[in-house]
Amino acid sequence: MPIKSRAQKSPRRKKKSSTASVPLARGQKQRFQNRLLKWYKEHGRDLPWRKTSDPYRILVSEVMLQQTQVDRVIPKYHEFLERYPSFTELAGAPVAEVKQTWYPLGYNIRPERLHSIACETVARYGGQLPSDAAELLSFKGIGRYTAGAIRSFAFNEDAPILDTNVIRVLHRVFIAEGDPKTQKSALWELSEALIPRGKGYDFNQAIMDFGATVCSARDPYCLLCPMKAFCKTFPFERAR
Ligand code: SF4
Repeated sequence: MPIKSRAQKSPRRKKKSSTASVPLARGQKQRFQNRLLKWYKEHGRDLPWRKTSDPYRILVSEVMLQQTQVDRVIPKYHEFLERYPSFTELAGAPVAEVKQTWYPLGYNIRPERLHSIACETVARYGGQLPSDAAELLSFKGIGRYTAGAIRSFAFNEDAPILDTNVIRVLHRVFIAEGDPKTQKSALWELSEALIPRGKGYDFNQAIMDFGATVCSARDPYCLLCPMKAFCKTFPFERAR
């Protein structure tokens, strides 16, 4: 067999994000929606940021929850809001002090970003975060996920979200093959297509809770899962 020299080696292809839509079987969408919302009604977590629709509070919780477990976020969320109750107070504080208040949550780029979003909100929007997707995405530090979370949790819009939990649930239930990291476009489409009209808030909260507590990364509760009848991954088997 001819051996390729280094010079002959084929160029490494850059991984492309798949854009193909995921076909949904008849009735599958509605079954998923109904079962997820029913499960959420019975098992949804009682979290402090679910008791508010203040865009500032929602943003603080979303930034804190990036890379940090819920139980570590809760006390810091209360402390932070007591110290900086609005965009105006946060924007007026020195960044070094904000970082100190943030401690020990870690990833110090997060309080810096939050502070910069606060300054921009005060300077450009008089201290009120806009609800428009394009405007939100124009902020440094607000990506597609955070924009979707703000739109659905603060402004009650049917905006899609896609974080690690949502990716895992959607990929396992509807796709079950290939690497989810290369299927982001299809997963975003799916996340949007599945939202029942007018129920974006509950649906998005539900799917995040479901991914965190039932369809978890290592040990999903497949036997008790309300999706098992049509989940393409059921029963989940951990790779050895
Ligand atoms: S059956 Fe298992 S893999 Fe499928 S959604 Fe439920 S917990 Fe996740």
